[in-house]
Amino acid sequence: MDIKEFYDYYREIAQYQNVAALVEWDMRTKMPPKAAADRSMVAGKLGRTAFEMMTSPRMGAFVEFFNRPSIASQLNETDHRNVALVTKQYRKVSAIPADRFEAFIVACSRGEHVWQEAKGKSDFGMFLPCLEEIIGFEKEFVEYEGYEQNRYDALLDDYEPSMTTAELQSIIDGLKQELVPFIRQLQEHGTRPDTSFLAGTFPVSEQAQLSRDVLTAMTYDFGAGRIDETEHPFTTSLGVGDVRVTTHYYEHDLMSALFSTMHEGGHGLYEQGISEEYHWMPLHRAASMGVHESQSRTWENLVGRSEAFWRFYYPRLQGRFAQFRDVPVEDFYKAINVVEPSLVRIEADEVTYNLHIMLRFEIEEALIGGRVQAADLPRFWNAKMKEYLGVEPPDDAHGVLQDVHWAGGMFGYFPSYMLGNLYAAQFFAAAREAIPNLDEELAAGHLSVLREWQRSNIHACGALYDPKDLLVKVTGKPLDYHPFMDQVRAKYGRIYGIVERERD
Ligand code: ZN
Repeated sequence: MDIKEFYDYYREIAQYQNVAALVEWDMRTKMPPKAAADRSMVAGKLGRTAFEMMTSPRMGAFVEFFNRPSIASQLNETDHRNVALVTKQYRKVSAIPADRFEAFIVACSRGEHVWQEAKGKSDFGMFLPCLEEIIGFEKEFVEYEGYEQNRYDALLDDYEPSMTTAELQSIIDGLKQELVPFIRQLQEHGTRPDTSFLAGTFPVSEQAQLSRDVLTAMTYDFGAGRIDETEHPFTTSLGVGDVRVTTHYYEHDLMSALFSTMHEGGHGLYEQGISEEYHWMPLHRAASMGVHESQSRTWENLVGRSEAFWRFYYPRLQGRFAQFRDVPVEDFYKAINVVEPSLVRIEADEVTYNLHIMLRFEIEEALIGGRVQAADLPRFWNAKMKEYLGVEPPDDAHGVLQDVHWAGGMFGYFPSYMLGNLYAAQFFAAAREAIPNLDEELAAGHLSVLREWQRSNIHACGALYDPKDLLVKVTGKPLDYHPFMDQVRAKYGRIYGIVERERD
């Protein structure tokens, strides 16, 4: 058996996945509504074909052969990693009996449907039987897949390879202890910035040009991508040379689309930056969901909400929208950085966002561990919201029913968002060390300086390293929440006019 045969077979799978992604992009952006039923079947068929090939006896034979010690020892680093990635995926999916997996998919698609209706009516009881069924599957599957200490480890590993519950818990414990009092301090002793001048009417056509302009400034390659509008913004990679982003325009909220565009643009730069050497290989993907999210958060928050960026970009915004002509850039910068504990995760700001994730992680872990029952969730959820954010949902639609993830069977996904914030701060601190005049570069509009650093340190590697190895390689240290806390303390302490007491 030749490694070339393995790559040929994998390329076929990747091509099916590719066209499935293209069909999905079309369904979400351009497809006329009457095509929905047939197109779903086509998408399902393509996805199933890729899945069947991934778990086929032929793939099993490759996995067995290239993992033989005498063969594995002869592979180079790239081949070795490609085989390891496929082996892990093969063993995970083929551990689950096919009929149980299919039943799970059916339960999830019913779950999403029922969730939608239950959320509309704010009726948790309506969603409860579906949720119980899905949790049952999750518990069953982690037993097939296996785990070392905590059942939740197996779920976490799907999105953040080799991250464990214990590691995550210890990060969360430390972060929570510093973040919760800091937010309280901002609320009680800080001066909330004036945001009144952000209100207005902003024509969608102008906003669309702004989004294109900001992506161009970020060095997003329009020769290998495009931007469209969808209800929920997303990024999809259709392979080398085709990475597409979407955004959503609100006529009365200029900043929403702009930040969505920068967020998705950050995902897009990652995908556009993966080394072409890995074309059609398992390696041609991000290191993890968390690392992916770190790149989007970097562009959305650490660049898009920074003073340096707006020193460069504000005149361009003022040129487009007359209402900002008399607003000083300092006031604008403060206004786009308001911190407000809120009920809904997707509306949360840079500082309070992680608390929304901690709560979800703790609930998921307790559910999978069997220490909390699904029926208790609304009570559990509301108590934690009160404890961490000081707000209580008026109903379940704004509480436990707000996210689609559980209905879609995506237990273990939420921590990626928080890890993204923490990785972003840690990577950005390393970028600052490597580029001492980074702020001046950003303020001069030289955004490519940051993009080049990201590309050579993070993007180009694809999935060559597990996230924790990548982090150590790039920053010299394992995951640490302090760079995040340092960054928000410095930034928001200044915006809110809080002089921090000396820390011991
Ligand atoms: Zn994202």
